[in-house]
Amino acid sequence: MTTPLPPPTAPVHARPPLRLSCVVPAYNEAGHLAEFLHALHATAQALTPDFEILVINDGSRDATRDVALAHAATLGVRYLEFSRNFGKEAALSAGVDHARGNAVLLIDADFQHPLELVARMVELWRSGYDMVYGVIADRAGESSAKRLGTDVFYRLMNFGSNIRIPRNAGDFRLMDRKVVQALKALPERNRFMKGLYAWVGFQTVALPFVPAERFSGQSSFSLRRLGALALLGLTSFTTLPLRFWSVAGACISVLAICYGLWITLETLLFGNPVGGWPTLAASVMLFSGVQLLSIGILGEYIGRIYEEVKQRPVYLLAQDEDHSPLAREAGA
Ligand code: UDP
Ligand code: MG
Repeated sequence: MTTPLPPPTAPVHARPPLRLSCVVPAYNEAGHLAEFLHALHATAQALTPDFEILVINDGSRDATRDVALAHAATLGVRYLEFSRNFGKEAALSAGVDHARGNAVLLIDADFQHPLELVARMVELWRSGYDMVYGVIADRAGESSAKRLGTDVFYRLMNFGSNIRIPRNAGDFRLMDRKVVQALKALPERNRFMKGLYAWVGFQTVALPFVPAERFSGQSSFSLRRLGALALLGLTSFTTLPLRFWSVAGACISVLAICYGLWITLETLLFGNPVGGWPTLAASVMLFSGVQLLSIGILGEYIGRIYEEVKQRPVYLLAQDEDHSPLAREAGA
């Protein structure tokens, strides 16, 4: 896609020569990891001689480890392995923590993110943008349930938070070192990366792309897991669920007062006997439900606070094998 883009608004300083870190989270990707690493290596090599590939094995249960290590020495791979599956957000955090380049590419291992776009991303980075993020231009290949869920999620997110999370932006992106440093400095354990990228700000630009079919295997994100991720995003970046219950509580209280007044007046003026057991039973049940639900929402936030105060690390490394050519120049 070659839609003309507005130039960055900040003054453009000449970028230093590109030193590219490619972060590849991998969970059960053995089926195509070798092909992917070769393709990524060729793409990076065409852009700069100074690059590294970081494979983060997120507790895979297939041969991802063997495949990655078999190619680690020849392709200059830094291989990081988690002690168990910590999830994609943790894998991306580990990549960001360990990358040493002055620009960091985040890319899925399943060929869904087009490698052809990386050169354009680098070009935009050179022109002064600090973050170039891929935006899914066409979700036609996805189920309608997933599309509806995504739509509702972005609406709620952007309504409830003053940080604009770009619609349909994924993790496929190129970030300058200063964005990486900012992300590394964020201490939270509940890492909803799409929110964190937007929170840090900087000069950003969207690059539309159409995701390819997964090369082999299946997506690890079931609707249930996507739902959990959406809840993490909503509770980490908005207080919308809490506010909803405050508003609902206020409306219900006003209605209850009006109804109470009406019953009193009706009895005084027209002498109606106070009846209405069905109304009473139904309203008691309704309001018990409403109360339990709102306590549940509170619990959701308290649970997140509990996870933060425990201060457990976001991930644990079981192995770190470094064949990266950038290793000796560490210190970024
Ligand atoms: N992934 C990961 N940990 C997980 C799930 C996924 O590191 O627990 C990686 C996976 O190997 C892939 C990327 O995240 O490189 C995207 O995952 P997937 O293709 O399953 O998701 P989708 O493309 O459907 O969003
Ligand atoms: Mg995928």
